[in-house]
Amino acid sequence: MSIPRNTKAKQAVLHEISSSDFALSQPEIFERVKGACDRVTVYRILDRLVTENKIHKIVNVDGTINYARCTSCDESHMHAHDHLHFSCIACKKIECLAEQIVHVNLPASYQIKELFLTISGICPSCQAT
Ligand SMILES: [Zn+2]
Ligand SMILES: [Zn+2]
Ligand SMILES: [Zn+2]
Repeated sequence: MSIPRNTKAKQAVLHEISSSDFALSQPEIFERVKGACDRVTVYRILDRLVTENKIHKIVNVDGTINYARCTSCDESHMHAHDHLHFSCIACKKIECLAEQIVHVNLPASYQIKELFLTISGICPSCQAT
């Protein structure tokens, strides 16, 4: 029995995101898995991986959506993405600062669904050059 095409494409997308140290935008992911599937399929796969708690969304300072792997989420744990993201203005890379947890105290009766925390600045490797 051969692996269905969509499963292969899903594995390829997850592999690209998991093996990257930085968050990837949808066009970047498509560029990397080109040939495995089309743009619409990549979009659907990304949505599914977010639902499965394998990857999470990061909204960059310019409004583009990027995706990064989840390290502490799984099927039984909801996404707990109260960590900071760093967006470098020089190399345009976005990374998870997983250790930098932000505690938000909302006024009573406000329900949080998603929280996007992105800092704009210059990353260590861009400062070195
Ligand atoms: Zn997650
Ligand atoms: Zn940089
Ligand atoms: Zn993150």
